[in-house]
Amino acid sequence: MDAVLYCADRVVTMAPDDGEVDAFVVADGRVRDVGTAAELRAAWAGRAVEERLRGVVTPGLIDAHLHMQRAGLKALDYLQPEDDVDRFIVEMRESFDDDGPEHPPFVDRIRALERVQPLLHALGITTVVDPAVTPDELRGYQAVKQSGLLTMRTVAMPYLELTRGDAAEIDDVIARLAGIGAATGFGDDLLSLGGIKVYLDGEALKGQAWLEDPWDASGYTGLRRIPEAEYRRLVTWCAARGWGVGTHAVGSAAVALAVDAAASAGTPVADLRFQIIHGYLETPATAMEQAAGAGVIASLQPSIIWHNGAGLRAALGDRAERANPVRSWLDHGATVAFGSDGPFFAFDPRHLMWQAVTRRIAGDDRPLDTSEAITLPEAFAAYTTGAARAAYAEGDRGVIAPGSCADWVLWPVDPTEVAIDDLRTLPVLRTEAAGRTVYRKDPA
Ligand SMILES: [Zn+2]
Repeated sequence: MDAVLYCADRVVTMAPDDGEVDAFVVADGRVRDVGTAAELRAAWAGRAVEERLRGVVTPGLIDAHLHMQRAGLKALDYLQPEDDVDRFIVEMRESFDDDGPEHPPFVDRIRALERVQPLLHALGITTVVDPAVTPDELRGYQAVKQSGLLTMRTVAMPYLELTRGDAAEIDDVIARLAGIGAATGFGDDLLSLGGIKVYLDGEALKGQAWLEDPWDASGYTGLRRIPEAEYRRLVTWCAARGWGVGTHAVGSAAVALAVDAAASAGTPVADLRFQIIHGYLETPATAMEQAAGAGVIASLQPSIIWHNGAGLRAALGDRAERANPVRSWLDHGATVAFGSDGPFFAFDPRHLMWQAVTRRIAGDDRPLDTSEAITLPEAFAAYTTGAARAAYAEGDRGVIAPGSCADWVLWPVDPTEVAIDDLRTLPVLRTEAAGRTVYRKDPA
């Protein structure tokens, strides 16, 4: 094998109790060894070629909620061929309300993925969970993988387009899932099936989050898309048949039901990586505790609060202050996976880690209640080890450890220790996925 011994200023492995290390060995797309340069030079003498890296290496980042193919289709619409990721970020921000083409020609799906993957690799991202994949999108991913052009490890969550949530529709979904035979986890470490995506409530800024306490004096509690009994039936069936369920649940009542349905499904759901997706408005402490106990993942997007914080304050006053309670989720022992909901919401991981640490929001100088702030190392863990769990890849991705995927990022300094305001402009120098260089910053 052609082994490479990488020696850096430091390697942040994200593995527990690894001590100070500055070197690792890669062969055949996998990390083979981790240690100090002196140790590894001795252990791999004559068997590995040494390469010096100027900077600090971390695991590749995992965005646990990124609509990558839609991002690519929008990139085709909004970017010139020479445009880079900074331009992409601006264009996506300015076209916030454009969902992108709904029924593009199939060849555009392939072009879209080819266009967008390098842009995301430039942000240090090496894995995405695409949280709502239609059959056409899944075909797009498969085609790109077959042609050898899929460089982003992708977990595709099938979206079954429930519109009514009544018994007949749930029966239909169950029949369709049963008919596939395969279930969550099918695939390999480049492209695999995640859990199904289900919507239990709507969007908070549209007043659709399903809350325990009414939105206002009218008594309106929000939108519930699936009757409780039907939702529980679907969850119970999925748990028994090997399908994970990622539930869009924004408001307190939706989160409470989603967690309880998972915890009482009759089959353990932790290995299926059941997820509460969003889970940010008046999240009940009891639900967070129950989620931690059942191994239900909190899939959270600091971007949504960044965009919606000021609007939620206007709508709910003090009730909005603790929105996206990341601190509480962690303190209750839940696994937190960070993602972005890009390209619709901001998707630069550096910006979102900064948001989770500072609780700053767009359009208002006052941060949201900082008692829900987390530390930068905690934010980095949510983008690596935490998100790896949501990607069915803990121990394999989001860490640099013997046997793990050789997915890593080179930064000029340690991104887990940098002054928080400097994080947003800290450049990614190089990104590797499966032992391949998928991004390299020009030495300007
Ligand atoms: Zn989304």
